[in-house]
Amino acid sequence: MENSSETTSTKETDYLIIGAGAMGIAFADEIFTRKPNLKLTIVDRRAKAGGHWNNAYPFVRLHQPAAFYGVNSLQLGDGSNDLSSKSELVAYYEAIIAKFKASGRVEFLSQHNYLGNGQVVNLQNPTNKTTYKINKKLVDATYMNVEVPSTHSPKYIVDEGVTLAPINELVHQYDQWNHFYVIGNGKTGIDAVLYLISKGVPTANIHWIKPNEAWLFNREALQVGKVAKRVLEHGDYMKKAKDSHDVFLAIEKTGGIFRIDEQLTPKKWRCGTVSPAEIVQLRTIKNVIRKGRVQRITTTEIQLQKGNVPYSDRTLFVDCSANALAKRPTVPVFSNNKITLQSVLFCQQVFSAAVIARLELANLSDNNRNQVIPVPHPELTEDWPSALSVSLENLLLMHRIMPMWMYRARLNFMSHESLLNYFRYATKAIFLTPSVKKAAQRMATK
Ligand SMILES: Cc1cc2nc3c(=O)[nH]c(=O)nc-3n(C[C@H](O)[C@H](O)[C@H](O)COP(=O)(O)OP(=O)(O)OC[C@H]3O[C@@H](n4cnc5c(N)ncnc54)[C@H](O)[C@@H]3O)c2cc1C
Repeated sequence: MENSSETTSTKETDYLIIGAGAMGIAFADEIFTRKPNLKLTIVDRRAKAGGHWNNAYPFVRLHQPAAFYGVNSLQLGDGSNDLSSKSELVAYYEAIIAKFKASGRVEFLSQHNYLGNGQVVNLQNPTNKTTYKINKKLVDATYMNVEVPSTHSPKYIVDEGVTLAPINELVHQYDQWNHFYVIGNGKTGIDAVLYLISKGVPTANIHWIKPNEAWLFNREALQVGKVAKRVLEHGDYMKKAKDSHDVFLAIEKTGGIFRIDEQLTPKKWRCGTVSPAEIVQLRTIKNVIRKGRVQRITTTEIQLQKGNVPYSDRTLFVDCSANALAKRPTVPVFSNNKITLQSVLFCQQVFSAAVIARLELANLSDNNRNQVIPVPHPELTEDWPSALSVSLENLLLMHRIMPMWMYRARLNFMSHESLLNYFRYATKAIFLTPSVKKAAQRMATK
């Protein structure tokens, strides 16, 4: 039944952007900067822009250099290899929203939900709805569906009497715990283990539940001035490798990638990064439980897919099982009056959002724009060949369509190179891409 006090107003905007996370804001920034006559409306359920960073654990930091994170129009951090903290990121997005609002051209509807068909509801006052007439496009900046520990519910059962906390709670634990069990071996699990070590918890008291192993990029190899050379080297290895595992072994030999346990063959690759010092610390954890995923935690034992493990009193379980960025099926980025933001370069979501905005402003048909195709967030080692091949093809296409923009865009990791190196790497990419594509096809049919 319709609420009699319900008010539905109608408004107009050029772009209605759903989601004020890193991708939505990078897209908005590009349109805002280049088209001073256009109006943008950005909607988010959260009270502040910055998406998942608002709910991240207090000690989270960027995993890749701040030099190429954020938006194109504003430097983040010292503009170099600095790894910005959560509070720096939240403040950065606040400053961008303030700039947007000051122009009078951007409306930021925080704590609003998008209902579909151009309709937005105020979550603080659900009787207040607005329907937007969208002159240009609806932009879905929620497709990546980022999950962080504090906003997700674990998929396992936790009995009464068991203390389970998301990683965020580690900074509020004032009790004395004899043992810590970190559940999950993604980047969040890694951060939890490193945090506990940094607080002086003896490594014998840290237990790590790892359903699988993953390859981890050496963060030093991804620094400004090194990353472009490294990525192209990966293409060289692909040409010679028989399968994706072979490629990772070749990168490992050059110190570009790590595995925590060198006796095991990782099946996962999710673009996680660690520093050489961190990998040394992670290898000090010897209490590793490899019995699959947790199914239930009772007051005396952990029940996992491949067996049960008893534990003793005064144990804190740390949930790090949220998926962060999942591998989602791709959809066309440009489809009639809708844009669905996705990664078009492996593990470069934010730059991808800016690229898509720039393509939107280019004088092209949607068919031509859609030749830059999405690269799903990787999950398995087998995802590597096609992720690299499609990314290289996209890079070449982007350079053909908008070369100067690519060279100047701070979110493009290559833009931090000297002009000579930029030219050198772009030329190498032109020659390398066809053989990488062939190698990816060969590996896919194995
Ligand atoms: C711990 C962590 C560290 C990372 N570190 C790096 C890094 O160093 N470098 C890097 O490049 N990337 C990094 N990433 C990836 C990254 O931050 C990307 O920016 C990612 O794509 C997240 O941005 P997003 O905008 O897609 O999603 P989100 O941050 O999830 O934003 C989407 C927003 O949409 C809103 N929303 C959803 N549905 C609706 C609706 N119906 N109505 C209104 N609003 C809605 C949500 O409230 C949310 O705020 C990291 C990710 C994580 C989780």
